[in-house]
Amino acid sequence: MGEARPVIEVVGLKKYFPLPRRYPGQPVSRVHAVDGVSFTIGRGETLALVGESGCGKSTVGRTILGLLKPTAGEVRLDGERIDSLSAGRLRPLRRRMQVVFQDPFSSLNPRLRVREILAEPLANFSLARTRGEFSARIAGLLEKVRLPADAAARFPHEFSGGQRQRIGIARALATAPEVIICDEAVSALDVSVKAQIVNLLADLQDELGLSLLFITHDLAIVEHLTHRVAVMYLGRIVEEADRRSLFARPWHPYTQALLSAVPVPDPAASRRRTILKGDVPSPIALPTGCRFHTRCPHAFARCRTEEPELRPVGDTQRVACHLEVRPGE
Ligand code: SF4
Repeated sequence: MGEARPVIEVVGLKKYFPLPRRYPGQPVSRVHAVDGVSFTIGRGETLALVGESGCGKSTVGRTILGLLKPTAGEVRLDGERIDSLSAGRLRPLRRRMQVVFQDPFSSLNPRLRVREILAEPLANFSLARTRGEFSARIAGLLEKVRLPADAAARFPHEFSGGQRQRIGIARALATAPEVIICDEAVSALDVSVKAQIVNLLADLQDELGLSLLFITHDLAIVEHLTHRVAVMYLGRIVEEADRRSLFARPWHPYTQALLSAVPVPDPAASRRRTILKGDVPSPIALPTGCRFHTRCPHAFARCRTEEPELRPVGDTQRVACHLEVRPGE
């Protein structure tokens, strides 16, 4: 896993959304959706970007895809900076980076048969020319996502939610991308179907050497899929670690709280549940100091004035917290 040069590099990414003024002369307010995020994804690697809704994780995904222009920072694909490219120059790179969204029903055109849905990206990037080439490619894609060949002649509404998500994945695979961004791709599915889709993604990753950015609010579903995890809170990464360290020794108080809500398969091995007090503060008026201090059970005076930077706390783990010792040790 992982070559020297990462496939995706995100450096100091910021994305603010200005709010309209309600009266002349009102100071401009901004939503600090993403506020200084950096990470890399290696070839064949999965990074899970995890956090509650509104933490900025989907904005990170959309900015990498070029659907949003960053306020500051850089996005690189295979070493090439892509955040400042025009739509025309970005287009050929879209072939290499695809997305699977949460709701396959709204992202699949209900009037098109699966065959036409899958033919579209093949035609857009001239990946098939003759009728025979299209048929062979489409059959291959359906096989990859384990749908029967006769699915090609049917419409999206004839499928279950899980099958529709398989069609969404087949469409993403059509351009033979290097990177797939899965934005809450399994969140709307039932638990057992979720597991099937996660397993499919893991198999496809192995088979095709894909790099995945898996954006989710649900830590539990990434435990068997991901190599590394980055936990976001209010626009910043508060902890980043390889999967094993994060699940065995969550360090940051926020990660500990998120993980304490994950059901443990073995009832004898209970996790102590940490209930976070209060709501996530507004990303318009951010708390001073550590942005988690209004909800942190370990907050102390320094937390209210000084923002902690990410620092290493082990070979593969980094946290943004002023505590010197991992809470609970
Ligand atoms: Fe909690 Fe302070 Fe650490 Fe922030 S810096 S997570 S408030 S202990």
